[in-house]
Amino acid sequence: MNFQNRFIELGAEFYQAKTPDPVTDPYLIDYSPSVGKLIDLPSEVGSDFLDHFSGNKPLEGAQPLAMAYSGHQFGSYNPRLGDGRGLLLGEVQSQNQEMWDIHLKGAGPTRFARGFDGRATLNSSIREHLASEALNGLGVPTTRSLAVIGIRELIYRQRPELAAILVRVADSHIRFGSFEFFHYNGQGKNVERLLEFSIQSYYPDIVEESDKYRIFFQRTVQRTAKLIAKWQAVGFIHGVMNTDNMCITGTTFDYGPYGFMDRFVPKYTSNHSDTHGRYAYSQQPEIGFWNLNKLAETLTPLIGAEILEELMKQYQPTFNQFYREEMSKKLGLSILDSEFSQLVQEMFQLLHNQQLDYTNFFRFLANYPAASSSDDDLNSWLSRYLELAQREGISYEDRKAQMDATNPKFILRTHLLQTALDKALKESDFSEISRLRVLLENPFQDQPKIFEEHELEHYAQDTPETSIGRQTSCSA
Ligand code: AMP
Ligand code: MG
Repeated sequence: MNFQNRFIELGAEFYQAKTPDPVTDPYLIDYSPSVGKLIDLPSEVGSDFLDHFSGNKPLEGAQPLAMAYSGHQFGSYNPRLGDGRGLLLGEVQSQNQEMWDIHLKGAGPTRFARGFDGRATLNSSIREHLASEALNGLGVPTTRSLAVIGIRELIYRQRPELAAILVRVADSHIRFGSFEFFHYNGQGKNVERLLEFSIQSYYPDIVEESDKYRIFFQRTVQRTAKLIAKWQAVGFIHGVMNTDNMCITGTTFDYGPYGFMDRFVPKYTSNHSDTHGRYAYSQQPEIGFWNLNKLAETLTPLIGAEILEELMKQYQPTFNQFYREEMSKKLGLSILDSEFSQLVQEMFQLLHNQQLDYTNFFRFLANYPAASSSDDDLNSWLSRYLELAQREGISYEDRKAQMDATNPKFILRTHLLQTALDKALKESDFSEISRLRVLLENPFQDQPKIFEEHELEHYAQDTPETSIGRQTSCSA
């Protein structure tokens, strides 16, 4: 692997150099060949891979480090965060000339660990692994998960739990909180250096521009708005949108107590600890704005308050525009006028009132009028929907094809994830993790290669009553 290690050049104030703690007898839980391909790894891996990516053997050229950052958690500033259990192994340049961060999560405590054990539970690692690959399958920007590697170590949360290491592959590990760390420590010069680094690394096309700082922030606003519009469209709830979990490239980052919308309930929050619903589904666009404001504060001395304010004003309209586009694709409609807006509003009312499954509703809609309903309210909405579809002159077949390529048949439903977790944790059977990963890599189509037809219907069904609205705790 061709390690470049650009971040390390920023100097000692930006990180702690540290090698991963050795582990006993690492074993493979799941490996994603499509992520491996990004960094030119083979489609199958053996014990060599486990040794290198569990941290037992150094990877040639890698210079592992724990990154310094801070951030706002649930609205309050926490100056003492940082990679307490994560290590950036380095940045790898692929044969395609792409740069990818390779990061281990659960590689042992660092100086930022604040007394925690530096490990990750097997449970949370599998959750991150599958969600990363699921969101990627849905076309949502996200960090990827190359593999989950089990380690023979018990760690203590509410009870003893199995531990694992997640190998994360990402375009960037620079968080809003990375800027906050230097800003709140009164190190303005380092804020600027981090900004220069970010521009060079992620936006090389603007390095020569005189207003590159402004463009950087504008792009961050745009990408964040776009990301959250996509979350809303697919019904993803991040669960912990703290500023240390926001990546400056607008990539879904740090999966904890996330969830996917089952029945449409806007105030649903997937995070058990989030008692006030700060990070509820319906709050996410607003929280994106709040978090961008925190980033903006750190850049005020460099860009100026007035310019930043102007750029922040673009957030809401940009989000709205992206979100409308997402909804129009989901509905198979392309005239985005006031009638369209009204139709969408009424649709959400209907989804909410009737507690319909958010994902399956759109698959059903693609089959309408071939499929029909016996519900009066739904029927009157459907006939108005059909009127709007007809005025666009698109054929039923074309509309269905477009919609089925946008609206997933399969999402990472809580009960499906739970089955995979139970098998892994109770029976050491990891096959369901791989099956779900493959299924969700292409969530729009049936994949008969590994599934029987009746199985596919099972994976596509509405979430059963008993799993609706489940929440996950942060430590899980
Ligand atoms: P996270 O919940 O992973 O976003 O982490 C929030 C903060 O707590 C970060 O600074 C992490 O590095 C730190 N942290 C979380 N879990 C652990 C752990 N088991 N050991 C050390 N640090 C941790
Ligand atoms: Mg985090």
